[in-house]
Amino acid sequence: MKKLVFATNNSHKLSEVKSILEPVFKIISLAELNCFDDIPETSDTLEGNALIKAEYIYKKYQVDCFADDTGLEVDALNGAPGVYSARYAGDNHDAAANMKKLLQNMEGAANRAARFRTVITLILDGEIYNFEGQVCGHIATEPRGDAGFGYDPIFVPDGYNKSFAELGLDEKNKISHRALAVKSLTEFLLK
Ligand code: IMP
Repeated sequence: MKKLVFATNNSHKLSEVKSILEPVFKIISLAELNCFDDIPETSDTLEGNALIKAEYIYKKYQVDCFADDTGLEVDALNGAPGVYSARYAGDNHDAAANMKKLLQNMEGAANRAARFRTVITLILDGEIYNFEGQVCGHIATEPRGDAGFGYDPIFVPDGYNKSFAELGLDEKNKISHRALAVKSLTEFLLK
C-alpha cells in the first residue's frame, strides 16, 4: 500500500483524513514519522502555508507527503479570520476564545455568510500539486453541538440547519472543505 505522510499534528484532521483515504493509502502522521518540530506557518495565504509545511517535510525526510491549511472566511469581516483562524483570539487562546471573538465581531451583522476553505499541497516524486475544497454556509448566533473541533459549533453549512458540531464526523466528512480537498487529492492519486 502506498505510504503518504500527512504533515499535521492535529488528531481531528488526521482521523478525518484517515477515514477518507484509508484503506487505499497508508497515512503516516508526523508523530509516526517521529517529527515533533514546530513547523512555522509564516505565510499570509493558505496556499503559502500548505507549501511551507509540505516542503519542510519533503526536504527533511525525502518522503511523499501532503500538508493542508484551512481558514474560515467570513464575508462581514472581509474574509477574516482566514489564514489567521487558529490564532484569531491570540497565540495562547483556544477554539472557545476564537469563537467568542468571532461572534462578538459579528454582533448585529445581517450578512452571516462564510466559507471554510482548505488548500492541500502534495509533493509526490518531487513534483508539487495543489488541491482545494470549500464549503459555504453561515455563522450561527451561538455555539451548538459537541462534535468536531475549531469553529465547528458555529458553522452551519448551506442546506442544513445544524452546525458541523451537531452533524458529527460522518456527515461532516461527506460535505466538508477538507473532505472535498481530499477527494480531489484522492482522484488525482488514483488516476
Ligand atoms: P489549520 O491551519 O489548517 O490547522 O486550521 C486553522 C484553524 O482553522 C484551526 O485551528 C481551526 O480553528 C480552524 N479549522 C480548520 N479546519 C476546521 C474544521 O474542519 N472545522 C472547524 N474549524 C476548523
